[in-house]
Amino acid sequence: MSDRDTRHQQAMQKLKAHVDEKVAAATEQRGLLLVFTGNGKGKTTAAWGTVTRALGYGYKVGVVQFIKGQWECGEREQLVEDPNLEVAIMGTGFTWETQNRETDTAACREVWAEAERMLADPEVFLVVLDEITYMLKFGYLDIETVKRALENRPPEQSVIVTGRNAHRELLALADTVTEMQEVRHAFNSGVQARRGIDF
Ligand code: ATP
Ligand code: MG
Repeated sequence: MSDRDTRHQQAMQKLKAHVDEKVAAATEQRGLLLVFTGNGKGKTTAAWGTVTRALGYGYKVGVVQFIKGQWECGEREQLVEDPNLEVAIMGTGFTWETQNRETDTAACREVWAEAERMLADPEVFLVVLDEITYMLKFGYLDIETVKRALENRPPEQSVIVTGRNAHRELLALADTVTEMQEVRHAFNSGVQARRGIDF
């Protein structure tokens, strides 16, 4: 074996020991709260990726879409036939278009009721609260209400929250937080959002 091969083998043995130790230390089994936030692209697609993963094992999944600039959503089109998936969409759609606090608040409360029902159902393995961070930011929903529903959910249920500027109390409550960092985005060079890639 060459020197390089030997060094590689030793490094891999060390790495394996380290990983085995961490795997042995992770003994708890329960549902998770995950937050996908930050300005970079990938929050909602990561959530749908996890939805696909859960549906792949036959689990029940609820997705609540709080804001949709693009009404189209390729993942929803693909997965909607799955009887284990339930999707609830906020009635008025895009808040930057409607620009009406009163109707937006009402629409938000309506879809939040659906979310609350899912968050109370032990049959639901995963709930996605897509773009809910903006509801908190605009004051359409209050953090205490959301926290209460998250804290009282069934222990085996996981929840994914997506959206920029996640409330610090949500971050504090989360088990996993990923911040998508924008290094570059094509939109800023004048390239249009692309069907099948961006929505
Ligand atoms: P995606 O749905 O692609 O995973 P996202 O959920 O991380 O994106 P949002 O902030 O919800 O991002 O934005 C929704 C739309 O805006 C998507 O079409 C997405 O491609 C686009 N987008 C995401 N990040 C940026 C950015 N930094 N600049 C411009 N457009 C963006
Ligand atoms: Mg998104």
